[in-house]
Amino acid sequence: MSVLNKLRKLKELQEIDQEIDRLEELNEKIPRQISETENEEQALDEELEELKQQRKELIKRRDRKETDVQDYEGKIEDKKSKRFNLDSQKELESLNNEIETLEEKMADAEEEYLVLDDEIEKVEDEIREKTAEAQERFSELEEYRKEREQQLEKNQEKLEKLHEEREEARQELERTNSSLLDKYERIRDRRGQVLAAVEGETCGGCHQKLPPQLINDIREANSLQYCEFCNRMLYWHEDLNGGDQESS
Ligand SMILES: [Zn+2]
Repeated sequence: MSVLNKLRKLKELQEIDQEIDRLEELNEKIPRQISETENEEQALDEELEELKQQRKELIKRRDRKETDVQDYEGKIEDKKSKRFNLDSQKELESLNNEIETLEEKMADAEEEYLVLDDEIEKVEDEIREKTAEAQERFSELEEYRKEREQQLEKNQEKLEKLHEEREEARQELERTNSSLLDKYERIRDRRGQVLAAVEGETCGGCHQKLPPQLINDIREANSLQYCEFCNRMLYWHEDLNGGDQESS
């Protein structure tokens, strides 16, 4: 196999590997994306639950005020009924004062009752609004989750095919040039990307400046050449891209 053919075979393998890496990386993100939507839903639920709790407390306080008003009312009635059995003007004045005080307290309690009633109405409006918002958001998130799950499935199907393709390419190389395959796998384990194009005067993998003699050797393509810094296999991009690369 000529050096260029070797490089071409390895580049095919590398393209498969890069696509596998890309899809696996995407697939790793998807469960996280899904759990983020679940967290958001939970936060919305908690917000609503808090408002409902607030409403419950307000209702309790309002009901207590209602009881207070009824109590005062009873006491006032009671005092009023005693007005006719009094012996002196002084006793009547004192009783009237007591009634007045009770009436003031009752008016305060009624006022507080109304304030609480208003607050309850506001909280209920907020609950209605938030519930509608949450429902809308929930269906958006559900939609998004479905889309992510479908994407995951699609990626997995693609990955299965790619792994098959890779296995074929690997087996072919193993038959024809197993030491080349070993080299490829070793560099891939360490660097991920195995082949790097020469970019100007630098290695396209690590961007270190390459000696001119090495660049000449790469262009001549009589043997495989490696970057002395990152150890990747180097190629002259026009050789593997059929000259369709924009470069000078
Ligand atoms: Zn390098």
